[in-house]
Amino acid sequence: MAGANFSLLLLSLLFSISAFLQIGGGVASSRPRVCVIGGGIAGSSVSHFLKEYSGGAVDDIVILERNGVVGGRMATINLGGDIFEAGGTILHPKNLHALNFTTFLHLQRKVNGAAASSNSNASSPSSSWLGIWDGRGFVFKTLNPPPRSSSAIYKKIHSFLNALLIFRRYGFSLLRMNRFVQRMLERFLLYYKDLASRPVFGSVEDMLKWSDLYGLTRRTLREELADAGLSPLLISELVTVIMRINYGQDVNISGLAGAVSLAGSDPGLWSVEGGNWQIAAGLIKHANASLHLHEEITSISYSGGNYELSSKKGNHYSCGVVVIATPLDELNISFTPSVSIPSRNLQHTHATFVRGLLNPAYFGATSAAEIPNLVGTLEVANIPFSSISVLKIYSEEDKAYKVFSRLPMEDSLLDRIFSARKYTVRINWPAYPHYKAPENFAPYLLDGQHLYYINSFENAASTIETGAVAAENVARLILSRMLDISSSSSNIRTVSSGQRDLHVDL
Ligand SMILES: Cc1cc2nc3c(=O)[nH]c(=O)nc-3n(C[C@H](O)[C@H](O)[C@H](O)COP(=O)(O)OP(=O)(O)OC[C@H]3O[C@@H](n4cnc5c(N)ncnc54)[C@H](O)[C@@H]3O)c2cc1C
Repeated sequence: MAGANFSLLLLSLLFSISAFLQIGGGVASSRPRVCVIGGGIAGSSVSHFLKEYSGGAVDDIVILERNGVVGGRMATINLGGDIFEAGGTILHPKNLHALNFTTFLHLQRKVNGAAASSNSNASSPSSSWLGIWDGRGFVFKTLNPPPRSSSAIYKKIHSFLNALLIFRRYGFSLLRMNRFVQRMLERFLLYYKDLASRPVFGSVEDMLKWSDLYGLTRRTLREELADAGLSPLLISELVTVIMRINYGQDVNISGLAGAVSLAGSDPGLWSVEGGNWQIAAGLIKHANASLHLHEEITSISYSGGNYELSSKKGNHYSCGVVVIATPLDELNISFTPSVSIPSRNLQHTHATFVRGLLNPAYFGATSAAEIPNLVGTLEVANIPFSSISVLKIYSEEDKAYKVFSRLPMEDSLLDRIFSARKYTVRINWPAYPHYKAPENFAPYLLDGQHLYYINSFENAASTIETGAVAAENVARLILSRMLDISSSSSNIRTVSSGQRDLHVDL
């Protein structure tokens, strides 16, 4: 990421910030306190980048987090003594911020599916054993995984045969799908270019236009893939399965979110050993931010050049800069003066974790061993779940599963799907935006002063990495505006009155 230009730029930025902070001016005459609402990847990354890019000159960062832990949608659950990721799980090999954070914080990476086990009798399932369920039967199944004791050559042959099987069903459309995803990834990689050749963006639109990704947010994934030459079969089966797993939505999702979701089926996916939430914890600690847990912010008022934040517990914080690092859509924060953002629905994903055994009869099988480790589903009305994946195999009769669904999984339904159930844990996630092309984006800067909103980027795509990428830009935007340097992206703008009907007042 860093080159010679970067060092020079950083030095001059550092010098100017230090000078600014000493002589006063701009937002405050002394070092402004930066208050960050939310301790997930967005809040922790913005704190990290503020500290790094200011060379430590921005040193009064307060993080307010309503939960008792940081990480937000990067969270783990305990299912009968074993810990599993409950929210954001997989990271792509090209998620460069997440990779850098993990190295820098001395965290261990694990390749997806190769979970470390405290129980030596337990094993990690092969996530490549996929079955596509249409509510009555499996319309497609990949090969049963090879036994764990198989030789490397046997495993290679097995993987080749699996690829042939998938190719026989979907043909050259698979290559077109891969090209579509790689093109998106190439453009996304521009966000890691050195600082000197990468502008500070005042809006999500400008950011996406610069990398030539904006067009993908204007049309549905279905339209984009049809233009890319994918067959209707691939779109209605494999692509649909991936969208339902990753975003709980169908192929009418907007194109960029869809492409990002498809990248989530690339090889080499990874996560942090012990839980991805540790990235947030490590960044917050390293930024030397003052973290206030169990502190839910309920109001933000601006007057006399300062923001006053009030919490549910009745505490008050005076801040020169405020960064909102959580989706505002389902929150009840009052703003004075009010701010206006496009209305957006969140897609709720119900994550249900079960330790037990699937019921073979439900799947028309004679034994649970015939049911693939990853059951994906088609967009058929009566299927009550989006996906079921095996997280860990304790024995042939005892496994840990993760079920994703759009609606809650009631006990009566689980008792039909599972023949045995020892432990059940449920989470109702306000998970990500319900994507709808063409997407509208809230501004990064909500009030023309110093109230910033990172999660407006989630309308492009919602992932751990996109949270970090948006946070890095917001950190640069804050620093550039503190120094009153006009951003290279010409228009830092608030919502125009012509757009008001699409907006909600907060
Ligand atoms: C089920 C599921 C699966 C996913 N799978 C993946 C995946 O495999 N890979 C991937 O990259 N991404 C995945 N994602 C998406 C990814 O987890 C999110 O995009 C990302 O973690 C969002 O981070 P964030 O910091 O922007 O928001 P959050 O993680 O939601 O953090 C916001 C924080 O703000 C806090 N907060 C909210 N309101 C207040 C308030 N009023 N006062 C104080 N604090 C407040 C919240 O408690 C929370 O901690 C998944 C998400 C879900 C739900």
